[in-house]
Amino acid sequence: MKLDVVKLTKELVSYNSESLTTNVPVTEHVARVMKSIGFQIERLAYDDVNGVPKLCIVGKLGKGRGGLTLMSHDDVVPAKMEQGWTADPYKVRTAGGKLYGRGVCDMKGPLAATLCAAAAYKAKDLDSAPLFIVVTADEEIQARGAWEVTKRSKLLQEAAGGYGLICEPTRLKVVYAHKGSLGLRVTARGRAAHTSTLKGTNANLAMIPFLAEMAKINDLVLTSKRYRNEEFNPPHSEWSIGINDGNVATNISPVNSVCTVNHRPMPGIDVAPLVERARKKARELGLKFEVFRPGNGLYTAPDAPIVQTALKLTGTRQASTVPYGTDGLAFTTKMKSLVVLGPGNIAQAHTVDEWVEIDQLKKGVELYTRFIDHVCVQGL
Ligand SMILES: [Zn+2]
Repeated sequence: MKLDVVKLTKELVSYNSESLTTNVPVTEHVARVMKSIGFQIERLAYDDVNGVPKLCIVGKLGKGRGGLTLMSHDDVVPAKMEQGWTADPYKVRTAGGKLYGRGVCDMKGPLAATLCAAAAYKAKDLDSAPLFIVVTADEEIQARGAWEVTKRSKLLQEAAGGYGLICEPTRLKVVYAHKGSLGLRVTARGRAAHTSTLKGTNANLAMIPFLAEMAKINDLVLTSKRYRNEEFNPPHSEWSIGINDGNVATNISPVNSVCTVNHRPMPGIDVAPLVERARKKARELGLKFEVFRPGNGLYTAPDAPIVQTALKLTGTRQASTVPYGTDGLAFTTKMKSLVVLGPGNIAQAHTVDEWVEIDQLKKGVELYTRFIDHVCVQGL
């Protein structure tokens, strides 16, 4: 069966699957394509925090365990004409060898490339090392879909011992590591009153000593060797502190003071002691303390077989690291042999008039085809 990567990308982009809306229709479309190739499909549905239905799928072509897994997400960041788009972001436009539209690069184009590569094979071609395709929702929202798949999928268990490619755009260069993610939200509560009465409680007062402690942690992560990793550029990550009291009038005592922290831990670095230090201080000051989806970074040793295979198949010499995160945050807890490798340039992700070169998508199809042949057909 032959699929055209440009045509399929256009079809996938035509579904608006911004992370706050449902991704079910586009995922059902992908499931139909995968079924027509011969994939067995596992569905993992859930409702997100706003009660919006979401769907992830895992498909398997062939028999056995391990093999190769190609991973993509089908949610996109929002796109509105008011942001300055030249044309409807959900109608792909072709010009100068490029496709323009929301998600052509991040990452419906790369997802289409994986499906086109898979379409060249039949289940009977892959009778000892199977091909898996994973499609997640909510990658842009702390990789919620990938966590659902990691926790619930039976097929992912079968795939876990094999090779995995996270097909996010890397210009077809091999990426062996990315940073992790950590979010904190700390809230102080006060009592509103006109400031002339002395009857209010200013929530910011309780927050001030907490912020001082956060500033100390920021100094620590930016200067200590322990939190430094020369494989990354930059080699440190900040303990990024946000403050907000939402107060609309200066003559009313603020009732809510919220501090948010965002941090990108280096792979292999345990940030639990920092979280505990923050939690202890919050408890001391009577603040509410919440931690959001801590995820370890992705790290596959540069000399690991999957990295070496990927270098060979891409014809490149050196693997690199990237500062952004992917669904790998979740998948790395199940799969040990993972790299990020996909067509297109991450610089175009999340932009107005997002684009991808058609040539990159075609090269992506060729590369994924070589990978399937190497791992699943030749069993190497
Ligand atoms: Zn992406």
